[in-house]
Amino acid sequence: MDELRTVTHWIDGAPARAAADRRSVVWNPATGRAQAEVVLATGEDVNLAVASGRRAFAQWSMSSVSARQRVLFAFRELVNANAERLAKCITAEHGKVLSDARGEVQRGLEVVEFACGIGQLLKGEYSDQVSSEVDSYTFRQPIGVVAGITPFNFPVMVPMWMHPVAIACGNSFILKPSERDPSPSLILAELWRDAGLPDGVFNVVQGDREAVDALLDHPGIAAISFVGSTPIARVVHERASATHKRVQALGGAKNHAVVLPDAELDFAVEHLIAAGFGSAGERCMAISVVIAVGGVGPDLIERLGVRAATIQVGPGDDAASEMGPIVTEAARQRILEIIDAGSEEGARVAVDGRGCTVEGHEDGFFVGPTILAEVTPEMRCYRDEIFGPVLCVMEVATLDAAIALINENAYGNGTAIFTSSGDAARRFSREVEVGMVGVNVPIPVPMAYHSFGGWKDSLFGEHHVHGMEGVSFYTRAKVVTQRWPEASAPSGASYHFPTAR
Ligand code: NAD
Repeated sequence: MDELRTVTHWIDGAPARAAADRRSVVWNPATGRAQAEVVLATGEDVNLAVASGRRAFAQWSMSSVSARQRVLFAFRELVNANAERLAKCITAEHGKVLSDARGEVQRGLEVVEFACGIGQLLKGEYSDQVSSEVDSYTFRQPIGVVAGITPFNFPVMVPMWMHPVAIACGNSFILKPSERDPSPSLILAELWRDAGLPDGVFNVVQGDREAVDALLDHPGIAAISFVGSTPIARVVHERASATHKRVQALGGAKNHAVVLPDAELDFAVEHLIAAGFGSAGERCMAISVVIAVGGVGPDLIERLGVRAATIQVGPGDDAASEMGPIVTEAARQRILEIIDAGSEEGARVAVDGRGCTVEGHEDGFFVGPTILAEVTPEMRCYRDEIFGPVLCVMEVATLDAAIALINENAYGNGTAIFTSSGDAARRFSREVEVGMVGVNVPIPVPMAYHSFGGWKDSLFGEHHVHGMEGVSFYTRAKVVTQRWPEASAPSGASYHFPTAR
């Protein structure tokens, strides 16, 4: 058997060997075969990355805004030129279809483009003559070495929510990608190097919990950005806060789409199918629950079922595939278990993807589109984030009942409403306790110049990612109050607290 490729760390502008021989398998989800091994960091590797980041920060944080912008623009061009290479790498390790992977790269690129305008974004504030002969100004400075810990489901886009903004602000950045699809991180590292970024400003540490714990506890790291599941996000927030770091920890989701009786039903069905089954449901903004309001349920379930049956399931690199495999066999087994539990607890399996096999890819980690109807709030399929191609359908009598159901749910990442009533849409948008809302838009992912983040158990910490929230997260404000007295001027000093004159 051929030796497996090794995915390494990247420290100080080059691939770096691991301190210890800890490794994990990287699967090809479409074939079910191992395709690489990724090294897993220990605290020693993390120490090296932080030391490299600190050395680089001393120079990079002093570089001019124009110099940083030039690197960002060069990186933008290189990501654009390598978009197909990145997309193929995502598909090979994550399994999502190539068109979806291309979309992910594009959305990441938009954050780079946002960060190219860092000169405008970092402009401070100036107040003239706040007291006699005294002026004040506020400006923002980078915070140091910052780290990003990211999930498997967007191995390019989610890290790009973080590092372009952090680096443009003058920080150095350590990426800890998911060990399930680690290779795109090394392409990004190469592109940063080729763009002229000084060594050590962008480092990659591969690993699992051991690497994460070392990053969270390291006193040389100023801030942690985390995206992943809610239980880990909660722990990351608590542990990193205990060492007084800034933390933004984005967690899991259970995104509901409400369909009112006045919705354009064919339009809603097409969008619900795409939002529920795109990327095999492995998106934090996937629709996983449909709430049918006021008797629209039976017709909606019928139409969803007909449409779901037409979805082409297959390997991500086949242009005919609309939905690829699940990332690992363990994730696949968990999804199947939750469907079984739903059925045992009384949900009706209206479309059953459990027996799905793909010709020529019999060992691939496939689950077909699945629709569970008659779902109720106490069922496991409603309580747990499934993160697979499973749509749960619930029925309620009124919009108020739909809003109450969503607001009682622990998660609050995204939600959507399908309606032709502006009044209903407005009320829904204002009353629903969720961070991102779509009106006749099922996956309301904000553009890079807005910020992305959920509410409740979908986000721990107060900052969303990218947009101006990202700039604030990766910088701290300084306010300077200054006067330039003539040598002969009276000092005017006094013992009372200074007030404006
Ligand atoms: P995950 O929580 O298993 O892993 C996320 C990161 O944490 C990875 O880098 C992983 O190596 C690390 N990790 C895993 N277990 C750990 C542990 N015990 N201690 C410390 N670190 C640990 O998530 P995942 O399965 O890779 O990704 C899917 C999850 O991410 C879903 O819950 C999804 O909703 C969520 N997600 C959320 C958003 C968002 O914007 N809110 C975006 C994408 C994904």
